Amino acid sequence: MAAPAPASPAAATRGPVTAYVALGANLGDAVAAVSAALQRLAALPQSSLAAHSSLYRTAPVQATGPDFVNAVAALRTSLTAPALLAELQRLEDEAGRDRPYRNAPRTLDLDLLLYGDARIASPRLVVPHPRMHERAFVLVPLAEIAPQLVAPAALAAMTSQVIARIP
Ligand code: ADP
Ligand code: MG
Repeated sequence: MAAPAPASPAAATRGPVTAYVALGANLGDAVAAVSAALQRLAALPQSSLAAHSSLYRTAPVQATGPDFVNAVAALRTSLTAPALLAELQRLEDEAGRDRPYRNAPRTLDLDLLLYGDARIASPRLVVPHPRMHERAFVLVPLAEIAPQLVAPAALAAMTSQVIARIP
């Protein structure tokens, strides 16, 4: 019988993976919110910011309200995917601290698009993000920093969605 895997923390340690995070904001100073979020992502534990896209202004998809500001970041991280999601949710909470009323739209949305080549389907985390291929505000900034991950046909299918790079 094979020996059981050791339960030491070191046994669980893997090398860093590249994770892609989508950022979005549409309340208050959304450019400032996304810019601040990029700095906070860079400061996450066991992680470094490998790249980030330009900021983009996009019309709301299936929603009303002000335009969104979106971007995509690439992190090199040794956090597990659930730990990274928890950190992203903590940053969302911190950015929404001054939300004026319960269930008000959040000032910051952080979605985990990809975590290396992992495929995850748990109640709280689905990776690759199931709707990323329908959204110009994800695919256009992702293609800017990782063109190998975005099929040209997928980008071509997005042309009805209005998106403009913020100079
Ligand atoms: P959305 O981003 O779709 O507008 P929310 O940000 O409110 O919606 O996310 C709702 C839930 O989605 C979160 O509580 C989280 O547990 C779950 N979720 C599942 N997969 C992911 C993912 N890849 N990235 C971020 N959240 C995810
Ligand atoms: Mg989200």
